[in-house]
Amino acid sequence: MNELAVDRARGRRITPPTDGPARAAALRAVDGTPASPLRPGRELTGEDADRLAEVAAELRPVFGRDPAAAALVNATLIRHGAVPHLFGDPPVLAFHREDADLVDGWAASAATALAMVIGVGQGVRLRSCEADGCDLVFFDVTRNASRRFCGLSCQNRAKASAYRARRRA
Ligand SMILES: [Zn+2]
Repeated sequence: MNELAVDRARGRRITPPTDGPARAAALRAVDGTPASPLRPGRELTGEDADRLAEVAAELRPVFGRDPAAAALVNATLIRHGAVPHLFGDPPVLAFHREDADLVDGWAASAATALAMVIGVGQGVRLRSCEADGCDLVFFDVTRNASRRFCGLSCQNRAKASAYRARRRA
């Protein structure tokens, strides 16, 4: 999500990759690179990465209290054929059909994970950074769901700017 669908990070404008090969490279460079558990050797192609960028853009508003979050997640679940499915021996639970391609499999799993979070009343933990000039998204794991910023650099910038505003007042 942050690699493909965000254009402001930590107070700076960033340019997300705009073509398939660059998107695929960006995805390979981070943890959680989408891979199909059913096709472990399958390489992510530029075309896959373009489709994943569309999924990321569709789901981006789910982070940050969008009232349409549930509808967006439902649409993604349907579009990518999400369905609980046991495969392998011993059986492993996945959330896509056995014949799903890599992108549908990843999108169905991601949308299912978001649906589970929202469906147990924890959608408030799907957050977007509140600092000026930053749209990075994160999952808030604090006990009381109170995290406001993506990281220390944004927290420090926001504190400094609030301090300056108080001094001016
Ligand atoms: Zn931030």
